[in-house]
Amino acid sequence: MELEFLGTCSGQPSKLRNVSSLALKLLDELNEIWLFDCGEATQHQILRTNIRLRKITKIFISHNHGDHIFGLPGLLSTRSFQGDVGPLTIYGPAGIEQFVKTSLRISKTKISYPIKFVTLEEAGKIVSERGFEVYTEKLDHRIDSWGFRVVEADKAGELLMDKLAEFKVPNGPLLGKLKRGEQVELADGTVLNGKDFLGPAKKGRVVTVIYDTRSTASIRRLADHADVLVHEATFDASEGKLARDYYHSTCTQAAETAAACQVGHLYLTHVSARYVGPLASQMVKQAREIFPATTLARDLDSFIVPMKG
Ligand SMILES: [Zn+2]
Repeated sequence: MELEFLGTCSGQPSKLRNVSSLALKLLDELNEIWLFDCGEATQHQILRTNIRLRKITKIFISHNHGDHIFGLPGLLSTRSFQGDVGPLTIYGPAGIEQFVKTSLRISKTKISYPIKFVTLEEAGKIVSERGFEVYTEKLDHRIDSWGFRVVEADKAGELLMDKLAEFKVPNGPLLGKLKRGEQVELADGTVLNGKDFLGPAKKGRVVTVIYDTRSTASIRRLADHADVLVHEATFDASEGKLARDYYHSTCTQAAETAAACQVGHLYLTHVSARYVGPLASQMVKQAREIFPATTLARDLDSFIVPMKG
């Protein structure tokens, strides 16, 4: 599980930062990549990575402002030319289906694979499959904006072969049953309970993605004890009023949420283009005073989400 930031700028692209997009690479887990937002030229950014468009199977759209969706038609179109590509699902606010379909229809773009749309209407679970769940809640932005919490299922502990050695369990279905924590009877009548021979379960990881919003209570529900929180920080600590007026967050609000939710690491993204050089360093410093494990993400930065324990 790895995060790759494809665009980290708010509003308009700058020379150093493109507009919003984030890839959650689940290659070891599902052999898939999930995208969060798709600002203009996201597919150009992807050309600079090892991401293959056909691996992208889900795109989550936080809200319908242009800097978060203008990359969709081009990316969806190019994905058609990557051989035998499978279906793709887009999760987003009302209107995103119309935006995509209208763009494709007017440009007479033919897509070679099925696209499914899931309209976000209320808080709750929107994905539950193959060991992953995704939850969404509405945030507080000028238009409807949604945050996401990706939850990996816990993994059962490994079979403790040393502890099992004295029972000389033959290779095969009996071992499989023990591995699943079930009870088995050996040829000599000995009964073993799998649960007695399993190591500790491994906690699944949680990644929370919060794009455009003011500080609001729903963020804390989505970010509670997340391993990684990706949070917009359009402004620094001195611009609290601007942040409020424009329905955005400051770096310190993001850090306060990270601290309150006891997350593992905070990545700041969606940063206004003016925070470069010393101003960017200052922004990180302000956030770290509240939550030390903070990183200001740059375009094409990659971070592994470590397994707990
Ligand atoms: Zn934005």
